Amino acid sequence: MSNRARIDAVQKAASRSIRTFSRPQDAQGRPLRVSSLFGSRTFNSERMRDRVPPEVFAKWVETVEHGRKLDRPVADAIAHAVKEWALEQGVSHFCHWFHPMTGSTAEKHDSFLWFDKDGRPIEKFTGSMLLQSEPDASSFPSGGMRSTFEARGYTAWDPTSPMFIMESPTGRTLCIPSAFLGYHGQALDEKAPLLRSMEALSRSATRLLTALGESTHRVTVTVGPEQEYFLVDRAYAGLRPDLVIAGRSLLGARPPKGQMLEDHYFGSIPVRVQAFMEEVELELHLLGVSAKTRHNEVAPCQFELAPIYAEANLAADHNQLVMQTMRKVAMRHDFMLLLHEKPFAFVNGSGKHINWSLQDSRGENLLDPGKNPQENLRFLTFLAATLLGVYRHAAVLRASIASHGNDFRLGANEAPPAIMSVFLGDFLSRICDGIASGDVSTLDAGQAMIELGINRLPAIAKDNTDRNRTSPFAFTGNKFEFRAVGSSASISFPTTCLNAAVADGIDQIHAWVSEAGGGTAAVMAAVRRALQESTPVRFDGNGYGAEWVIEAERRGLPHARNTPAALAALATDAASDLFKRHGVFSHEELHSRFEVRVEQYNKKVEIEADVLKDIVDVSVLPITIAELAEARAHADVGPAAARRFHELGLRVEAVDAARQALDVALRGVGEGSEAERAAAFCAHVVPALLALREACDATEAMVNDNRWPLPRYREMLFLS
Ligand code: ADP
Ligand code: MG
Repeated sequence: MSNRARIDAVQKAASRSIRTFSRPQDAQGRPLRVSSLFGSRTFNSERMRDRVPPEVFAKWVETVEHGRKLDRPVADAIAHAVKEWALEQGVSHFCHWFHPMTGSTAEKHDSFLWFDKDGRPIEKFTGSMLLQSEPDASSFPSGGMRSTFEARGYTAWDPTSPMFIMESPTGRTLCIPSAFLGYHGQALDEKAPLLRSMEALSRSATRLLTALGESTHRVTVTVGPEQEYFLVDRAYAGLRPDLVIAGRSLLGARPPKGQMLEDHYFGSIPVRVQAFMEEVELELHLLGVSAKTRHNEVAPCQFELAPIYAEANLAADHNQLVMQTMRKVAMRHDFMLLLHEKPFAFVNGSGKHINWSLQDSRGENLLDPGKNPQENLRFLTFLAATLLGVYRHAAVLRASIASHGNDFRLGANEAPPAIMSVFLGDFLSRICDGIASGDVSTLDAGQAMIELGINRLPAIAKDNTDRNRTSPFAFTGNKFEFRAVGSSASISFPTTCLNAAVADGIDQIHAWVSEAGGGTAAVMAAVRRALQESTPVRFDGNGYGAEWVIEAERRGLPHARNTPAALAALATDAASDLFKRHGVFSHEELHSRFEVRVEQYNKKVEIEADVLKDIVDVSVLPITIAELAEARAHADVGPAAARRFHELGLRVEAVDAARQALDVALRGVGEGSEAERAAAFCAHVVPALLALREACDATEAMVNDNRWPLPRYREMLFLS
């Protein structure tokens, strides 16, 4: 056995040339500016307006803005226009593109091919084909919702998310963003509940705004997800079954440098990575995804991409496109994209910060401190409602971000802790404390603002929201940032849960205001009550500190340390009632999310165990034993050789013992319910995997470098 493949990989990675690609050009051969090419592969509203009769366009706008149903003639007209446009673009197939509960996307392609009544081939695409399709969905996870006698579901077009063209080197497909439903209307996907939660929040917020004396016909949820990721040279990744199959390294000795020098964050972007980013951005811009920001992240080989925020469902679709496009383009640049929350021990993991806010129908941000007392009152009301919702439903929000991958990140000294709390910053905290403790019920809005110093809010609040990286949910001037979300996760479920929680907070405030007969004083009193009740969830201190865990417990905040414990919150009456109240999930639908997530957890841990066992059995152990045999042959050369022989013997024993212990832990999981199995995986298998890793890492540090076959951390992280 030798390290030949590994050395080849190092050489390959070191000698890569930079991939170049061609950009769309204008008639003079100059690269098109972004604004000219943006969205050119989408059937966006301009294209719709240009290509359908005005009355059809008007109906479509109504559908999008007011959630009206599309009738068949309108759908037929749109389908025809889309088909003609798609054919001009060289598209041969269409597909309903949807988000099953796997967390990624699914598609089933159909050709436009049809036969007319004389049997001649034609291209056909009708309104009913656009609106609905029936994929055989029996192998998507349904969490027990779909019984085998009605295994089919159907996908339904989401007209608020533009259709787009997906390109492969050999062809083009028209993708129709869709929801995925069972025959009785059960949501089998991530999108339908997200849309419902947006509706619920809009309903609640609109009603509260009316009580505040404002008028809006709709409130939209705006979301901007920042996406962190790692890139590793493909040559290394190919030699690491753990990276290929589990998405993270399951073993690997600590590199000499790590991120100790902290020189990567915002450092200059490596040229090869920049080429990757630019190609990703071009593809995303063509797809109408507003890739905006790019930079290095904290860990070596870690980077971030952020778009300009969009309405939540569109942001969710776009984030899926971001992940898919990055994966595809990474291959072209001989990188492997790692979206896992913790691909490498010893350095930071990756998250996906969901920036979140609310907007009224005039486009005003409801979480933006305003310019006058009325706007400030609105701001305070929605701030208080958010705090109340997050406080009351902290356990659900914690569950919404729970995954095996995120367990390695949350609560480690790099990521938000697993306790939900809200950071407001000094200034806002003082205001909230002032309102919670003072008597404001007799003041009118203008007076209250002055007495509390809130009339200075807009100028001061923005500058005062310093960046507390240790908070899972932070106010950042005019939006909240849900930072605990994992990098590989779909943003749909956490956003759905957040929307429902806040809708609940809003409804509570509305109820209090109504009970008190309305008016500004009633609003201020309700705000005060909400701030008082939610005081425990506000925390501006160091979320990494051990004291916080104790303090949070004293405050009665839920603290689910791992995924099985966190997911249990989805199986409670409180959660079921919350989602039912707002029409987001039926009890059955919610329970299916619980089941699917628990099952995914179990599968992930089981796969990791399989992969690590394999690596240990066919690489680590045989190599270390060969090394030991050689050391024995030379043991009498001198004291150093004798010591090496002795120590290698101990390492072999340690790896072998940990390997046996993993088998015992796996056997102990047994055949119980998925939830019972999850508890066992978490309590016994995950620690056994870690112990085996530690034994292997100690071995790696001793084995002759000429023998070690797996690319090392120092190579993957610093020589990519
Ligand atoms: P950071 O310093 O955290 O990167 P940015 O201002 O760059 O903060 O914003 C990060 C993300 O937040 C971007 O995707 C941005 O579009 C988004 N964002 C900004 N305003 C809002 C808003 N009102 N609602 C939702 N997301 C927003
Ligand atoms: Mg941010």
